[in-house]
Amino acid sequence: MDRPGRHFLQIPGPTNLPDRVLRAMDRPLPDHRGPEMPGLVAEVREGLRRVFQTQTGEVLLFPGSGTGAWEASVVNTLEPGDRVLAFDIGQFSRLYAECAARFGAEVDLVPRRWGTGVPAEVVYDRLRADRAHAYRAVLVVHNETSTGVTSDVAAVRQAMDAADHPALLLVDVVSSLGSIDFRFDEWRVDVAVCGTQKGLMLPPGMAVLCVSPRAVDRSRTVRSARYFFDWGPMLEENRRGYFPYTPATLLLYGLREALRMLLEEGLPNVFTRHARLAEGVRQAVRAWGLRILCEDPREYSNSLTAVVVPEGYDAHAVLQVAEHRLHLSLGTGLGPLRGRVFRIGHLGWLNELEVLATVAGVELAMHLAGIPVPLGEGVSACQRYFADQLAPRPAETPA
Ligand code: PLP
Repeated sequence: MDRPGRHFLQIPGPTNLPDRVLRAMDRPLPDHRGPEMPGLVAEVREGLRRVFQTQTGEVLLFPGSGTGAWEASVVNTLEPGDRVLAFDIGQFSRLYAECAARFGAEVDLVPRRWGTGVPAEVVYDRLRADRAHAYRAVLVVHNETSTGVTSDVAAVRQAMDAADHPALLLVDVVSSLGSIDFRFDEWRVDVAVCGTQKGLMLPPGMAVLCVSPRAVDRSRTVRSARYFFDWGPMLEENRRGYFPYTPATLLLYGLREALRMLLEEGLPNVFTRHARLAEGVRQAVRAWGLRILCEDPREYSNSLTAVVVPEGYDAHAVLQVAEHRLHLSLGTGLGPLRGRVFRIGHLGWLNELEVLATVAGVELAMHLAGIPVPLGEGVSACQRYFADQLAPRPAETPA
């Protein structure tokens, strides 16, 4: 039996689907080698370029997910034995590095405390010391979804420039693209990797990449084995509006609609909305007297918040109660954070009332799980913050 009312899917992706996106996908399957494809693919690729904030980068669309996008970035830019610099700052940073290692890269995985971002000064030190330019790539997860930390990619780029090092900059934007400001051209990123199921407001099913001319050049010379994720045939076919094999056709229609929505709202407004919703959640966490895993406010993620439960309590119990009693899905603690944190997703197609309902649900779930939080305090703090943020400014007040 369906449970009455709406299910609150507040994990940090997959995110809630806008009705417009659902309707755009509710259609008969097209012929993926037919005449509809070039117009559709061209609009999607152009829209994505605007969302990646690039004029120099090219977009590649693979069936897959974020993990597939990792693999595509690795096999097309690295060869077995290539040295790679990466930082162990969370589950996805660790796994991206592991992906490179599985394909034979010599990964220097620098350990750091989970809850912190990529340290640009260490990037500088490592690259500066590498006089022989052995490092071929630096891996960065822009928004670490396991900890709720956004790294400063601009600072990493500056560190690479200051060290005068030619390594490629590979950035995972799986939980930032379309939610948190990401600038492919300005930060001179070489490869950005993403999936469809978070800020792009679609179901899972595609791996989306943006690649620089330098990365494309590299892909032509590396001798690593690859087939499904080979950029060569995909680039050639995508440019013509087609694919070398069967694409996720219906997702392309959904993606076109989602991109129209993001661009109608305007990227700066999308980022401001995410910042506002995120701060509303953080105000609630503070009012509960709980700790946000990310300690440096400059690194707070605007797409999710990882909340540390007090010593002696199990974060997993909160998730269980939320799911079974309240029909609210929250993100679990990943890897070593299991049981210690739960994560509130606040990205994608979302507004103030949904965040308030989520905060109320989290508060209730903690109460039901026996964590002593003052009922109502989080909701009230969040509401007060939104009241302040949404108050009409003098210019908007009717005369
Ligand atoms: N990178 C980040 C930052 C993620 O958050 C995720 C998934 O949540 C992934 C990569 C892996 O993506 P997928 O699960 O789509 O393969």
